[in-house]
Amino acid sequence: MKQDLFSANEFEQLVICKDEVSGLKAIICIHNTLLGPAVGGTRIYPYRTMDDAIEDVTCLARAMTYKTAMAGLSFGGGKAVIMADPATQKTTELLMAYGRFIDTLGGRFITGEDVGANEYDMLVIRRETPYVVGLPESHGGGGNTSPPTAYGILCGIKAAVNHRLKVESLRGLRVSIQGVGNVGSHLARHLAQEGVTLLVTDVNMDRARQVAKEVGATLVSPGEVYDLEVDVFSPCGLGKVITDETIPRLRCQVVAGAANNQLADEERHGRMLKEKGITYVVDYIINAGGVINGTDEAMGYSRPRAYSQVERIYDNVKALLETADAEGTTTVEAAYRIAGNRMKAIQRVSPITVGYKAPFKVFPGAR
Ligand code: NAD
Repeated sequence: MKQDLFSANEFEQLVICKDEVSGLKAIICIHNTLLGPAVGGTRIYPYRTMDDAIEDVTCLARAMTYKTAMAGLSFGGGKAVIMADPATQKTTELLMAYGRFIDTLGGRFITGEDVGANEYDMLVIRRETPYVVGLPESHGGGGNTSPPTAYGILCGIKAAVNHRLKVESLRGLRVSIQGVGNVGSHLARHLAQEGVTLLVTDVNMDRARQVAKEVGATLVSPGEVYDLEVDVFSPCGLGKVITDETIPRLRCQVVAGAANNQLADEERHGRMLKEKGITYVVDYIINAGGVINGTDEAMGYSRPRAYSQVERIYDNVKALLETADAEGTTTVEAAYRIAGNRMKAIQRVSPITVGYKAPFKVFPGAR
């Protein structure tokens, strides 16, 4: 290991998991349990090195702490990575071994799907531990997280547009979507229904063409998406797309999308966007629909209840933008302050870690 783990990374607990029989190599990061048990998806990805995996899991876990705090959930932040190629190395044995490691944490960490995993993988993990959400609806779960995530993005875009352009409806606005995979394609359908003029792209141009045809959008190439004159640019592909090179090219009023870690450098690029007059809707606030939907399973899933909670993203985005305006700060700074205040308030009530004592519904049929 190149660096001193304790000073180089933020976390409450880091669990290194190895199972010789299945070949499992996984890292679970519990970042913060002040608001409740840590919740976060499991990413299955062929990391080149252990350092890469630790860097990724700690950053993603930290973002989950702020995401759950801003969403008003009684959960803390965590994340897990399995160092494997999901296409060739994701076996039942490996997922079950991973489930047993989660179970040893006694509910301090609850997982769900992320890149490289799906709701059926969660079902396999569920054979070994109750501390997993995002199960298929046929098994009492909230199902695929992409539809609620996309719905939350829609609510957040409405709030941002209302704040910035002072309009109540999206009708006639121009929105570009970068990446029309699981979330982006659902978002495109919502926006088309709202009467938006859509421009879509994807590095997988066949997929982009298919979605464009379905929703009546204009197809653009991945390279030209930053130069389009639009009201809203919605990054729904991968992170770190807002950079020194792309910001000068942007001709939008609002950046609001699903991708995690959209800013390559949070502080600098948050400031550059503000100076350019672009309203940046902080990613972990607007893309919280999936975790809101998943954590609803802890009480026995109710779709109407989960979706009405997802709709609160509208208010959260409004509060964020109003706070940033009132304080003259970037939205990045405002988001950390609002989330930090919520955690401090809880800390004053109970200075001990309350997380894992919260009730967690154990579904029938475990093991
Ligand atoms: P996905 O893999 O289904 O879709 C992403 C799509 O973006 C793919 O079609 C890919 O080809 C495309 N893409 C990647 N980079 C691109 C680029 N530079 N230009 C154009 N297209 C590009 O993933 P998803 O589940 O839709 O998630 C999208 C993003 O949202 C990810 O960053 C994910 O971490 C984040 N997110 C997803 C959820 C969820 O519930 N699925 C929740 C929160 C955040």
